[in-house]
Amino acid sequence: MKTDLVFHELFTKHVLSPGHPESPKRVNTALDALKKSDLLDSGRVNMLQPRPAHSDEVRTIHSKSYLEEVKERSDSGGGYFTLDTSVNEYTFDAAMHAAGGGIQTVNRILDGEAKNSFILCRPPGHHAEYDRALGFCFINNIAVAARHLVSRRGMRRVLIIDYDAHHGNGTQNAFYSEREVFYVGIHQDGRTLFPGTGFVHERGEGKGEGYNVNLPMYPGCGDISYDLLLRKIIKPLVDEFSPEFILISAGFDCHFRDRLTSLSLTTSGIAKMNNSLNQIAKDHCEGRIAFFLEGGYDLDVMRQASVNLIEVLTGLPRTEYGDVMEENTVSVEKTRQLIETVEKYR
Ligand SMILES: [Zn+2]
Repeated sequence: MKTDLVFHELFTKHVLSPGHPESPKRVNTALDALKKSDLLDSGRVNMLQPRPAHSDEVRTIHSKSYLEEVKERSDSGGGYFTLDTSVNEYTFDAAMHAAGGGIQTVNRILDGEAKNSFILCRPPGHHAEYDRALGFCFINNIAVAARHLVSRRGMRRVLIIDYDAHHGNGTQNAFYSEREVFYVGIHQDGRTLFPGTGFVHERGEGKGEGYNVNLPMYPGCGDISYDLLLRKIIKPLVDEFSPEFILISAGFDCHFRDRLTSLSLTTSGIAKMNNSLNQIAKDHCEGRIAFFLEGGYDLDVMRQASVNLIEVLTGLPRTEYGDVMEENTVSVEKTRQLIETVEKYR
């Protein structure tokens, strides 16, 4: 079985304002690097050009009136939702194809037609709320796919791990009072970064209490801290929850070179984390894992992290890019304290 690489030309047509960091160059650069790396000719990758999501598939996560508003503004040629989140004529179609691609590829993985997948999409989705566009996001792709797995495919334990540097507020809120979808957010502390949420005390409510875990990272946290979190928090949590499917919000803005954020992961640290997550999926749910692209604004990082991710998913040897960033001792100490706090809650 092959790894699905989900991509549509429409993902390059959606453009925010001129000079905006969430630009088509992000996915173009990644795709070019994948083409040049020979990975696409390895016989292990299936290029999947997605269909658009049906309106009833996205209505599970967003209100009808909000979706109509995004469509209308797109159809009319453009408009702003927030200062940094605007549409052009292609935005609605691109977002619907991104969400549709997510559904299509998780179906294929579940039906034994694909091994795993990377959805190389724009616009990203994890900030999009029920009735609100936010943080460059319009339709919450990963939430739509998780809802599909639960409602249409009968899954009872879907795990979302979101390691984008920004908290996935939209995803958290979509499943905050449910236990079928477990949201884990590893992000830069909300006191220091948009959207200003994602604290340890946000643990879910009602039936969903305890099925939402936030790991706010002190600025400067890098490879050592993320490795600690994986071993001390993520692995025990996965053992306990025993997921049937794992979805990842992959935001490469956790890299030290990203200019929008203050975390310190290296390319190799991101690749090792992806490898650990892939291994966790193999151990717990027959390798069923899908990575949804969220943020990541440094083009070199987009290129390298995407190549490394496809190498991990296909099982091919990993290219070493050799970037180095020593994590400072203060960050590591803050992470140890965070682990103690989170363990007390569990
Ligand atoms: Zn982000």
